[in-house]
Amino acid sequence: MNIIVQKYGGTSVGSPERIKAVASRIKTNVEKGHSVVVVVSAMGKTTDSLVELVNSITKNPDKREMDMLLSTGEQVSISLLAMALHEIKIDAISYTGSQIKVLTDGNFANAKIVSISTDKIMSSLQQKKVVIVAGFQGIDEEENITTLGRGGSDTSAVALAAVLQSRDCEIYTDVDGVYTADPRIVSEPKKLKEISYDEMLELARLGAKVLHSRSIEFAKKYNVRLHVRSSFNYEEGTIVMPREEMMEKFVISGVTSKKDQAKITIRNIPDRPGIAAEVFHELAENKILVDMIVQSTGHDGKASISFTVLNTDLDKALKVCEDIKTKLKATAVDNKKDIAIVSAVGVGMISSYGVASRMFRILSEHNINIEMISTSEIGISCVIDNLYAELAVKVIHKEFLEE
Ligand code: ADP
Ligand code: ASP
Ligand code: MG
Repeated sequence: MNIIVQKYGGTSVGSPERIKAVASRIKTNVEKGHSVVVVVSAMGKTTDSLVELVNSITKNPDKREMDMLLSTGEQVSISLLAMALHEIKIDAISYTGSQIKVLTDGNFANAKIVSISTDKIMSSLQQKKVVIVAGFQGIDEEENITTLGRGGSDTSAVALAAVLQSRDCEIYTDVDGVYTADPRIVSEPKKLKEISYDEMLELARLGAKVLHSRSIEFAKKYNVRLHVRSSFNYEEGTIVMPREEMMEKFVISGVTSKKDQAKITIRNIPDRPGIAAEVFHELAENKILVDMIVQSTGHDGKASISFTVLNTDLDKALKVCEDIKTKLKATAVDNKKDIAIVSAVGVGMISSYGVASRMFRILSEHNINIEMISTSEIGISCVIDNLYAELAVKVIHKEFLEE
């Protein structure tokens, strides 16, 4: 059976007209003889509206109930899409995550997929039905509804492609591919024909929300080729593929930023084995996601450690750090809210000189202060003030990617 897995994002199913357009696109594939499995997101900004609704009831929502609510958006779009297909004489059936047993861990709001049963999907496909699955949701072992993190429908689609052993997964969105920067920030970014899993993963992790980062991890692990393309036209998009299969390798293939982060520094903790482990163990125990970590070189038996967390986790993280300060006799815990991480990513960086110095120079020429620096094999990231995030992306893009 030649199974195609397609995912349509929020804007792609944002109105009745868009749902009908998606239905006719699916019809074309059915008529070509393909078995089609479709994953959809909630219509337009539905999920954001649900979050706002919660904010008007409580500042401290119960996590289980939050996932129960947020998962409803996708239930609306799957059923409407099934009806739109019925209208054009295509047999289709919609399923929620729990109906097809998308089993996840119990980590509400950021659950990880453990397994997916293919029985129901396969038997519906054998009955020549288009199968429409609600993205972003699953159930845990206790049958609580869970969600996979904002933007998680991409991950639902790739996980389905993996279990259905489909080599390709098409991600339909409101841009016609992956660009060298967010087209909402840079006026003329270049569209990439192809990008490696590693670069795409790094870009997504560092803020490019065109793909959910876990979807790329799945794609790489199960060798699913991702085709990111627009549901508004028929242009070829961007293929996300193994590094070895790529024709061109750029020094920098993308520039991105992640805003609304906070920086914490714990000053003068003992410089001996086990201290960093202890600090980050405490933060992990309190379910605080730590992003960038930089430790200063020790001096006089003391070292300082800086790291970033989400703005929204800052208060919780500071409480934990105050306890650590007392326990380890640190001299201070400093913090700064509203910072951004701006990054340049590219596999060609591995074999090029001077990329970091060019990036730092261009930021300094625009009077943007670098507060922390971190690097990986294929990426360089700088912590700067939130206010300059867009400017930094523009000038770094201009330096490396515009003639
Ligand atoms: P969907 O609802 O289809 O999942 P998203 O809004 O999650 O769509 O992702 C698409 C958006 O990602 C685009 O509208 C674009 O603004 C943004 N984006 C960020 N970085 C990039 C990039 N490098 N290339 C393309 N789009 C990007
Ligand atoms: N509807 C969810 C969100 O807005 C999932 C998704 O769109 O991928 O985050
Ligand atoms: Mg998305």
